[in-house]
Amino acid sequence: MKMKVEIITPVYYKKPDFITGESEKRKQYLFKCAACGAELGIDFQKQIQNCWTGKTDEVTDREHEELKAHYGIGSSNKSHEGGLPVFDKVACTPCSGQYYTYSGVNEFSNSTFTVQIQGIAKDGK
Ligand SMILES: [Zn+2]
Repeated sequence: MKMKVEIITPVYYKKPDFITGESEKRKQYLFKCAACGAELGIDFQKQIQNCWTGKTDEVTDREHEELKAHYGIGSSNKSHEGGLPVFDKVACTPCSGQYYTYSGVNEFSNSTFTVQIQGIAKDGK
């Protein structure tokens, strides 16, 4: 897996981009396509819903393994800030670009979550 453009790279200390109950109005983490400038979004709830499998349906098992290797997720399966790593794929319709996203999801109390966006990278293919 070769990433052509990395828009966000992982850090160990990061303020949450989403907190259940505090930032409900924020549905998505927005970023701009590096190729065409279109606005793209990462759906926070979708990352939370998939935190136990570690990936959304858009990401294949093979891509999942490659993404874990790319971001250095070891057998402990912890995201950089200590949560559960969740991978998703976001397509840019105008330029048919594809982005892989890496989020850290933490359940800090019963059914309350934080989401940290740890990686956004454009596929090199
Ligand atoms: Zn684009």
